[in-house]
Amino acid sequence: MKTINDDVQLTTRLDANLGYACNNNCLFCYFRDRKNLRCNPTTKDLKRLFSQMKNFGIDTIEMTGGEVTIRPDFLDLVSYAKDHLRYQRISVITNGSRFCDEGFAKEAIKRGVDDVIVSVHGHNAELHDRLTERKGSFEEAMASARNIFRFGATCRTNTVINELNYRHAIDIAETIRGMGVKKINYIFFSPLDDASETQKELWPRYSDAAPYVKKMIDQFRGQFDAISIKVIPFCFMEGYENFVTDFWQNLYDPFEWDFYNRVRIRRGLFIRTIAVLVGLLFFMDISRMRRIGLKKSLSEAIARVQSFRESAKSAVCRSCKYDRVCPGVWKDYAKRFGLEELRSISGKKIDDVEFSVRERFNI
Ligand code: SF4
Repeated sequence: MKTINDDVQLTTRLDANLGYACNNNCLFCYFRDRKNLRCNPTTKDLKRLFSQMKNFGIDTIEMTGGEVTIRPDFLDLVSYAKDHLRYQRISVITNGSRFCDEGFAKEAIKRGVDDVIVSVHGHNAELHDRLTERKGSFEEAMASARNIFRFGATCRTNTVINELNYRHAIDIAETIRGMGVKKINYIFFSPLDDASETQKELWPRYSDAAPYVKKMIDQFRGQFDAISIKVIPFCFMEGYENFVTDFWQNLYDPFEWDFYNRVRIRRGLFIRTIAVLVGLLFFMDISRMRRIGLKKSLSEAIARVQSFRESAKSAVCRSCKYDRVCPGVWKDYAKRFGLEELRSISGKKIDDVEFSVRERFNI
């Protein structure tokens, strides 16, 4: 049997936030209250950030915002990352509002964009445009996928699962399949940042939404190369656990972000060091640390500290087979809905945080 030391590696992908400005107005956006602030990083700030990330061993940069493509310097930043810093891959998360333009898509891909993640939140214009609060955004997303494939990049999709769209989980997958996309992410709404207080009507209960998502998987497994269901505890996805990437699995998911370096860059060396020490002393199991080695232990330690601050578990978690690999639910979710939904899953305790990622991507 494979052990983690000879297979699943920490992700070497990291997001670079190019600013909050956006031409959509998505109801569930984490930065909804900040998107009109004029505090976007300058070109110089971003070039410095890209260099720093490269020095920390990041090989795939994922440009995110806001809507990154509306920056006037977007194409120059792509060239800088690809030609000057020699990033292996450049991913872009977008609402499709510029990739729907053939000339723009061609130029962006020519300059080095390899992989584009288009947001698709509804199966039709009515639902998608309602959630983005911009008429025409659905058609743009569809057109952008056509252009991305045509000019030779890969195209994936992000769908935020929320109260208004979870009943259409199957319809949305059908639409995405029609776009020719092979890898899809269904990301459960998270009550973070600006989304925590203001958009309560969009929070789905995990126990209400999960059955629809499972039905979608039943119907579409084998039709996509990868279906990833993000930010939901395993007990809601029993029988479908290998499709789940929750917070701790992010560390090993090749399509997620390097949390250790993210904290290092965003919080600075001092906070990162304190967080790592606290994590190693209070949250890591010695036998796991011996098995996975120092680098992975540091990453897991810091992720566990973050979960201690932001997640909540119930007494039933102690007997659950996923207790050691599951951070629980967001604290704000627990405040709103309580913890009665959580269900201990019986069986031998799982220790390997990366178990679901390994199965899904066959690594
Ligand atoms: S540890 Fe708790 S939250 Fe996680 S899967 Fe088990 S019961 Fe659910």
